Amino acid sequence: MRNIQKITIGIVIVTLVILVWYHFRANTKTYTVTPDKFHFANIDDSSKGGLSSSAIEIKDGKAYLTCSVVKESDYPWPYCELEISLSDNLIRGIDFSDYNKISLDIDYTTTHANKRLRVYIRNSHPAYTRVDEPTSLKFNGIEYPPGFGDGAIAIALDTFQVLTWWIADNGISIEHASPDFSNVPIIEIATASGVTEGEFEIVVNSIEFQGVWIEESTMLKGLLYTWLLLIIGFILYEQAKLHRRLKQSHKRAARLFKLNQNLNEKNIEFSELANRDPLTGALNRNAVQDWLKKMAQQVRWGNQNFSALFIDIDHFKNVNDKYGHQVGDDILREFVLVISTHIRSNDFLVRWGGEEFIVFFPETNGQQAMSRAETLRATIAAHHWCHNKPLTCSIGVAQMGEERITEMIARADEALYKAKGRGRNQVVCSQ
Ligand code: GH3
Ligand code: MG
Ligand code: MG
Repeated sequence: MRNIQKITIGIVIVTLVILVWYHFRANTKTYTVTPDKFHFANIDDSSKGGLSSSAIEIKDGKAYLTCSVVKESDYPWPYCELEISLSDNLIRGIDFSDYNKISLDIDYTTTHANKRLRVYIRNSHPAYTRVDEPTSLKFNGIEYPPGFGDGAIAIALDTFQVLTWWIADNGISIEHASPDFSNVPIIEIATASGVTEGEFEIVVNSIEFQGVWIEESTMLKGLLYTWLLLIIGFILYEQAKLHRRLKQSHKRAARLFKLNQNLNEKNIEFSELANRDPLTGALNRNAVQDWLKKMAQQVRWGNQNFSALFIDIDHFKNVNDKYGHQVGDDILREFVLVISTHIRSNDFLVRWGGEEFIVFFPETNGQQAMSRAETLRATIAAHHWCHNKPLTCSIGVAQMGEERITEMIARADEALYKAKGRGRNQVVCSQ
């Protein structure tokens, strides 16, 4: 949002600067037509058989034309004029199509009642202009009263009109019948068309074409398009940024998800490790602590029977001594496997000490526990062990009464001790 503020302020400032600059016409372009640059000449009807006479003087960058127009029967349109040649031929002139005004500072004195002057901006075009025929130049004309000492008068070029007789006489097509200032070799300033006689002085102080580098509508359109482009650009940029961020956050979420998953797996692994005996994979004491508390409660509330078998491998020391510790370890693993496959899924086998195990039987009374213990004992005794020798175990059984778990386990241990005492490979129930 900060960015959009900065950009908006920036654009508003730039727009204001452009508008102010435009308002004060910093973009005005001018083209001055002076006697220093171009040839100013006097023309009158004497060349066409009239009696008028004229003279021209160029002084201090100004042109002074004096003439006396004389009425004469042989020539019906007596006149005198100032002819400015912008080029040395009729074919190539100056392009004023980018200008929209001509500013004329002319002082005009005349004895005639008509105080107007004709101004012709002559245009050349291959469609109607012939090299040797000055009248074939288009007459873009206007008549106006310049006054005396009135300063410059700016005349819009679109107020000029093409003389109708010129259009008719030259058979000009509609396409070329409108004013054109794109190729001007000659400018003429002449006495008004109705003038037939009198004394005249035309002082041309300055002639200047005026235009703008950029039309107001073009500039406003340009500004509008620039604004639109910037806004569209900004929206696209923001959208791309958002898209990128969204993609990044998706990626981050996916990464986090994976990390979480890994952590979960690790957690499970760690908790498994914490609850399992690393050698045999059997549960350790820690794993059943909470469960035992719950079971004790259930028994106390009279909800169920709960029994435990304390199992100790007979003469295990001998196995170690005879076959080595490694084989002893293998047998411990095998022992856990055999017991595990012969108990129910809700029973728990716990490695209680070196070669001592406890199996907890929920929902089992002492008698049932005795019978299942007996089955286990027989299974162990009948199993074919990895060291190819028979192996037996002794089991002490206890059903939990109104006592603590530790007390029940101690009773089972006592029963086991009795089983050992009675010659091993047998089951003894604690009373
Ligand atoms: P019994 O129980 O029948 O009276 O005789 P025993 O030889 O089994 O006697 P005791 O219970 O005193 O000996 C336990 C032996 O178990 C001692 C020890 O060397 C062995 N033992 C304990 N833990 C491990 C173990 O993790 N791996 C191996 N290989 N042996 C173990
Ligand atoms: Mg032992
Ligand atoms: Mg033993």
